[in-house]
Amino acid sequence: MNKEINTCKECKSDYFTKKSKKENLCPNCAHYLYGQKECKHEMKRGKCYKCHWDGTFSERITALIERNDKKFKNINISIIVTTVILIISLPLTIIGLIYFDSTVLSLTKYSFSRNVLFFLSVFGVLVSIPFLIKAKAYKKRLRKEIPYLN
Ligand SMILES: [Zn+2]
Ligand SMILES: [Zn+2]
Repeated sequence: MNKEINTCKECKSDYFTKKSKKENLCPNCAHYLYGQKECKHEMKRGKCYKCHWDGTFSERITALIERNDKKFKNINISIIVTTVILIISLPLTIIGLIYFDSTVLSLTKYSFSRNVLFFLSVFGVLVSIPFLIKAKAYKKRLRKEIPYLN
């Protein structure tokens, strides 16, 4: 095997030139920056014995990974919260519709809280469904845009 060694311009680690398709980038940086197939690093005495990378992550790549992780975390939280709103408001809306009658617009003491609950749940359904669709599309787009996730 050709064991020619190069130095990565991004993380300054040495690596086996043959193991990266990107010029002057180690397999690890090429993976995170350009989505090159990942080396399943196996570290022995501080070096991956497959690609010779030394485990260094550049500041830029660390920041990139953190930023992307945060984006996914935020969108996942939004999806969970919206799903909970939908799970609660959908049955209430259906129940409300089944018992729908003219008192829905009256503000008598008897029907007030029931009607507020009904309108709130209709609102919940109307808001959460389009939001969920958008959020899932955004997550999909995010996965496509981040090279190392492909
Ligand atoms: Zn590198
Ligand atoms: Zn490796």
